[in-house]
Amino acid sequence: MWNFVKTGGYGLTSSVLNLMYPSICPICKGRSDSYSHSPICLNCWKGIEQYSGPSCRICASPLVSEYSTVCGECINALPPFSMVLNYGIYSGVLAEAINLMKFYGVRRLTRPLGRFFLSLEIPECDGIVPVPLSKKGLRARGFNQTLLLARVISKELRIPLLMDMLFKKKDTPPQIGLNAKERLKNLRGVFETCMRIDNLRLLLLDDVMTTGATVRECSKTLIKAGAREVIVITLARSSMM
Ligand SMILES: [Zn+2]
Ligand SMILES: [Zn+2]
Repeated sequence: MWNFVKTGGYGLTSSVLNLMYPSICPICKGRSDSYSHSPICLNCWKGIEQYSGPSCRICASPLVSEYSTVCGECINALPPFSMVLNYGIYSGVLAEAINLMKFYGVRRLTRPLGRFFLSLEIPECDGIVPVPLSKKGLRARGFNQTLLLARVISKELRIPLLMDMLFKKKDTPPQIGLNAKERLKNLRGVFETCMRIDNLRLLLLDDVMTTGATVRECSKTLIKAGAREVIVITLARSSMM
């Protein structure tokens, strides 16, 4: 319920940045030349690449060896989701764009970022669930970026957007600085569904996946509530921050 409450309003940072356009591209320091991607210039934007190297067939973690198909994490603890569809690596221009959207309120980037998902092979599913923010988190940010990204897929591929399905019922400290185990513990039991999910195949969307603690916990909650399968979709895989 909470993740769409404030999505109608513009954050202060976003308004200030809009006034400043045309602005300077943070990558090449040239002038940004496209409002929809600004402050990143089109030339730098075109440098964002889809990751095509070897990756774990379950969690999409980049693998060092081309001969293994499943990573050590997934072997140790099989995730509750069936697979992760991931676009790129959290570095360079892609990381910059995600940070501008998330931490500097540049909401217009959700559209071009959301379009990256369309180059992934998204299987047929019953609905798309954005990873929710807590009430406090939403108040602080002013919008939920996963909801805005999910809207792009929902509209383009006509998959129902299920924004009321999953809640984050309490605020948690930032995951930065915690190891994988601590991250899972930090999130245990914080997500909740408000309804029974009858046998649905769901697409769970997050922007960045690091250890996977968030999407594991969300998937667990959805499956417990009756989901048949959860497929995770993320913009970027990141190593521990
Ligand atoms: Zn540039
Ligand atoms: Zn894996």
